[in-house]
Amino acid sequence: KGNIEIKNVSKVYPNGTIGLKDINLDIKQGEFVMIVGLSGSGKSTLLRAINRLHDVTEGEILIDGQNITKATGDKLHKIRRSTAMIFQNYNLVKTSSVYRNVMSGRVGYYPAWKAALGLFTKEDQEMVKTNLSRVNLLDKYYVKARDLSGGQQQRVGIARALMQEPSVILADEPVSGLDPKTTKQVMNDLKKLNEEDGMTIVLNVHSIGLALKYSSRIVGLKDGRIIYDKPIEEVDKRD
Ligand code: ADP
Ligand code: ADP
Repeated sequence: KGNIEIKNVSKVYPNGTIGLKDINLDIKQGEFVMIVGLSGSGKSTLLRAINRLHDVTEGEILIDGQNITKATGDKLHKIRRSTAMIFQNYNLVKTSSVYRNVMSGRVGYYPAWKAALGLFTKEDQEMVKTNLSRVNLLDKYYVKARDLSGGQQQRVGIARALMQEPSVILADEPVSGLDPKTTKQVMNDLKKLNEEDGMTIVLNVHSIGLALKYSSRIVGLKDGRIIYDKPIEEVDKRD
């Protein structure tokens, strides 16, 4: 679990802007892929396509052999759950507790009325604790999200993503607002999930330095096309 196949994917936005042009990528379980490229090169368009936050114009994307581009209803939900996303601006509910924010990664598993009343199972409450421990934030359980530092908020974002029990983590510029020290903490948490839990990670950055340090493979985008794709061992730092 954790394989992604992207076949001949193109995306044109409704206003005519080309987001992606004929992308082919085969990502295997356990890879840590960093997508690099200038602003506007298509990184976030690609990431959003992978778990179908938006539709592509052409081509298809398979997650563990399941076609997410064509799926609907329950099947789509199921495939999407296996690909959890974390965001640049964290997307937390700032006025809610860390507990609530992390649990929100699981609300899709409940009927709406149960979620609204906060009727979560014991198992899921335990899972919140387990996942907060994985990002070293168990002591912030009751704290409101707005009272955390940026790095802590991003780690809450990671804990929330883990509530989906994903095999793939998609991260759209997760460290771009953070200072070097916090960046390191967030990257190390992700690296640990990759190395110890075998999760596939696909992450957008605009710093090539971070990619060289943490990734197992670097993919370069320019104007919506792949212009570079190498495993880290083959990356020549002069490239
Ligand atoms: P970033 O570069 O930090 O990812 P952007 O400023 O490119 O963010 O995009 C912010 C939002 O605006 C996104 O939802 C994106 O889809 C949208 N957006 C970006 N470029 C355009 C555009 N040319 N026309 C319409 N919406 C756009
Ligand atoms: P990156 O993540 O590398 O900064 P994006 O994927 O956000 O790049 O953008 C790729 C191209 O698509 C850019 O030209 C951007 O302006 C355009 N774009 C992004 N979102 C939208 C949108 N919602 N509508 C129209 N154009 C968009």
